[in-house]
Amino acid sequence: MASILTRKVLPRPRWESNPIHPLLDLWITEMMNEHKATKDSVDYSQGMPKSHCGICRYYEFDTQTCEKVRGHIHPDMWCKLWAPIEK
Ligand code: SF4
Repeated sequence: MASILTRKVLPRPRWESNPIHPLLDLWITEMMNEHKATKDSVDYSQGMPKSHCGICRYYEFDTQTCEKVRGHIHPDMWCKLWAPIEK
């Protein structure tokens, strides 16, 4: 169970969606994202030039998602979990 909660979640390509029912697919995606914070809880808002999602260690450019926060994440935004990319 722990491996499901800590596993990196990437949106599945359309052709891999659950053929049984789209709501089941949505439910599975929500379950897999359950460990992530909501945008409201982390003060997701407009970023600043030197601290925004695009230069955060948790940002995933390919999918425009975040390891820590649920949903679509824009690279110009920011939240209080922000941490710089390690060099
Ligand atoms: S600033 Fe927050 S929302 Fe943006 S990538 Fe980092 S942790 Fe995710």
